Amino acid sequence: MFESENFIVREYFRKMIGEEGLKIMETVPEEEITDEEIAKLSDTKLTSVRKVLYTLYENRIAEYRTERDDNSGWITYLWHFNRDNIKKLMEEEAEGLLQGLNSQLEEERKGVFYQCHCQRVLFEEAAAKDFWCDECSSNFEYVDNGALIKELEEKIEEIEKWKREIKKG
Ligand SMILES: [Zn+2]
Repeated sequence: MFESENFIVREYFRKMIGEEGLKIMETVPEEEITDEEIAKLSDTKLTSVRKVLYTLYENRIAEYRTERDDNSGWITYLWHFNRDNIKKLMEEEAEGLLQGLNSQLEEERKGVFYQCHCQRVLFEEAAAKDFWCDECSSNFEYVDNGALIKELEEKIEEIEKWKREIKKG
C-alpha cells in the first residue's frame, strides 16, 4: 500500500502509530476493507486495529464510509487510505528534512569548527576562550568536517531523489 521500506516513511509512521501500526498499515490493500478483515490479515487484535485506524483517520490518512444492512441494521465500516494525503504528508516531510539538512550543510560549509570533550563550537568561540573549555577542562581542537559535509550532501541527494519519486508516484 505504501512504500514502507523507505526509512523516512517508516520513521514518520512509527512515530504516529508505532511498530504494530506499521504492520497493520502494510497489510491494507488498495481497495476498501473492514477493520475485522485488517485484523485477520495482519494477525492483530481488533482493538489495536481500531486504535491505529482512528489515529490514521485523525491525521486524514485513513477514511471510511458506512454501509447499513437493511435486514439486521448492522453498520459496516469500510476503510480505505487517502493516497493523495499520504503523498502530500510525505512531500511535506521531505521538504522539512531538506530545509533542516540544507541549513546544517550551509553552517558546516562556512564554519570552522573546534571540539573539546564536551562540545563542538565555531572557531570564533574557541578563540574567544583561548582554545580552552572550562566546562570539561580540555583543549578545543580543530575538527575536519569534510566527512560530515559529504555525509550531509549524500543524505540531501537521497531525500531529493525520494521527493521526486513521491511526486511521480
Ligand atoms: Zn568542553
